[in-house]
Amino acid sequence: MLELATPVQYVKGIGPRLAEILAAKDIHTVDDLLHYLPFRYEDRLNPRSINELRAGEMATVIAEVRTSGLFRTRRMPIFQMTAGQGRTRLRCIWFNATYLRDRFKPGQMVALYGKVEEDQYGGELQLVQPQFEVLDDSNDGGSSGAAEQKAAASLEVGRIVPIYESAGQGRLTSRWFRRIIHTALENLPSGLPDAIPAAVRSHLSLISPRDALWGVHWPEPGESFDDLQASRTPAHIRLIFEELFFIELGLELKRREQKAQTGIAFRLDDPVREAIKKILPFHPTTAQKRVLKEIASDMEKPFPMRRLLQGDVGSGKTIVAFEAAIIAIENGYQVALMAPTEILAQQHYFSARRILENAGYRVVLLTGSLEDERKRETRRHIAQGNAQLVIGTHALIEKKVDFANLGLVIVDEQHRFGVMQRFKLMKKNPSKDRVGTAALGRPVERSSANIGEPDVLVMTATPIPRTLALTLYGDLDISVVDEMPPGRAPIVTRRVGDERSDEVWQFLRKQVAAGHQAYVVYPVIEENEETELKAAMKMYAELSKKVFPDLRVAVLHGRMGPDLKEQVMRMFQKGELDVLVSTTVIEVGVDVANASVMVIEHAERFGLAQLHQLRGRIGRGAAKSYCVLMTGGKISEEGERRLDAMVRTNDGFKIAELDLELRGPGEFFGTKQAGLPSFRVANIIRDRKLLEAAKHEAAAVLAGPNAEVSQEDISRALVHMRSRWQKTYGLVEVG
Ligand code: ADP
Ligand code: MG
Repeated sequence: MLELATPVQYVKGIGPRLAEILAAKDIHTVDDLLHYLPFRYEDRLNPRSINELRAGEMATVIAEVRTSGLFRTRRMPIFQMTAGQGRTRLRCIWFNATYLRDRFKPGQMVALYGKVEEDQYGGELQLVQPQFEVLDDSNDGGSSGAAEQKAAASLEVGRIVPIYESAGQGRLTSRWFRRIIHTALENLPSGLPDAIPAAVRSHLSLISPRDALWGVHWPEPGESFDDLQASRTPAHIRLIFEELFFIELGLELKRREQKAQTGIAFRLDDPVREAIKKILPFHPTTAQKRVLKEIASDMEKPFPMRRLLQGDVGSGKTIVAFEAAIIAIENGYQVALMAPTEILAQQHYFSARRILENAGYRVVLLTGSLEDERKRETRRHIAQGNAQLVIGTHALIEKKVDFANLGLVIVDEQHRFGVMQRFKLMKKNPSKDRVGTAALGRPVERSSANIGEPDVLVMTATPIPRTLALTLYGDLDISVVDEMPPGRAPIVTRRVGDERSDEVWQFLRKQVAAGHQAYVVYPVIEENEETELKAAMKMYAELSKKVFPDLRVAVLHGRMGPDLKEQVMRMFQKGELDVLVSTTVIEVGVDVANASVMVIEHAERFGLAQLHQLRGRIGRGAAKSYCVLMTGGKISEEGERRLDAMVRTNDGFKIAELDLELRGPGEFFGTKQAGLPSFRVANIIRDRKLLEAAKHEAAAVLAGPNAEVSQEDISRALVHMRSRWQKTYGLVEVG
């Protein structure tokens, strides 16, 4: 008998050598092995006879190898194999497939799966590039005796057959996995424990773990083929839900623990409200008012706020952050605002000075490029509590700075995900009690109830679809600024081929003549930084000397020193430059309302999210803005879809969803930094409905014990969750 926790090497037919190959696929235990799901299924229940095939359909054919060989055409080698059923024959071809040369022997039975097409001459049917499997193949993984081979053969035909990704450079074939997983399933104890509480099981009509495991690997003949391919059979749903449920249970628990910590209960009375009103340079949008209310109500509560403030580029998150800062400062606490880059920290500092310093608040900037003496002095101000709002980059504030009494931490992540670092700042307060700094002459005694963890507000411009945000930031509450400030003319986006650059420059010139400014962005991707930077500089030379010799053109790139960068940015901000040629360094947070044109060179090389972020730099004023996506060279199909999406929509959420679809969640978030768990069976895009259900159910369980969920149910679920989190999801502890 096998237990789920048994190491795979003890499954019959595996052993230590093959276990190593499996370990590379993260398969360590029987449980892992059984969660290695087929990526598709083949209907070999009703394999087709060759003479009933029709052009255009996908079909499984089981036939006998007759002849095979490699043909060299002028363009490429083509491998051809003819398979037969009695007198009928079917040709199969594979392009560039010299590796198939010795694969087939006459008389072998093969299962073939692929698209039926007419050949280009006589309209005879053939299978093009079919998937195949030699059914009586003995050189396959471990050795097997005659009796086993017979049993194994019956796994190959006459049923719906699971197809697995092979492992170990093809050493462990799909067929090998079929046999091994079948063996493992047969040796499982009949009653597997179920850690999902009975009430939850019944809400979702979940089948038992054992039935689910059998069902995903060896579906019953009556199972819907569409459901199988879409991972929507009861068996799939059970396994996917289970995975998501225990993740959500962990996140929900974390959230509850955070809420149980002592925080700071900020006071929100009329003087504080007045102070907020005084700084507002414009009427906040309805969305801004709503999120401020959500934030303020968190801040009033005696446990620490952990809130994500999400909003598309340009939606106006900064002012909301400043409003929250005022609540903390007026209560006698300090506020830290961390930005991902120096440029962005500087930009926040400029806005803060304009908006807050004018109202009498003490704002300091602490970045790496300050002189040492200035740095020391600034740190002293912070430690003594003189500085009320401290702006800096993530790194600086994290490492060396002591606060007198930090009450609120604002993390501006833009679209970078530093989820793991975000709570480090909370430990910054000295342990001894102190009197809060006097704000505007209103000293505030820190009552003993008010010593606690600072509040944390994380701002992100990545419009994460809500369900995803729930998983990613499951331990955070979420506020969304889902409305743009008024008076923004929409951005018109066009794609133009390189060959029409003259027209583009003419257009840009016209916009400048009308008093606007323009960005020209050139891709510099890290891997090719050297050569691409050269290309960008060449283009800058061309633009400044030949195309626009009469305009004020400057360049901005990542290799420039911070002082020079700042100087250029400031000139552009003040309107002393007409055209800013730039690499992607302008992507984050730069705010120049008069810039109305952005030309992106080689737009096909940028990711979708990046294009959208870049475009967010224009359309910030009342003038109609234009984004020109210039393309040159070959564009992949995916590239076409990205460009197409940019032209079609300005909606960051739609773009994010498409981006997720194109790249997959791992790439989209950069799995590790995001702390995104690696899933065994779930796919958070495909399974978003189940994710929401899982979250809901997890919260309900932790709200127990009650009539539905017993204390034992809860304990069992938590024990299971803890072992899962440690073993499988590898989530880093936060905070
Ligand atoms: P983001 O959410 O990308 O950080 P910002 O906070 O930088 O956006 O705001 C973008 C621009 O919109 C800024 O110039 C800001 O002053 C302006 N803005 C924000 N809110 C409003 C509003 N309610 N009315 C008018 N302009 C606003
Ligand atoms: Mg911003």
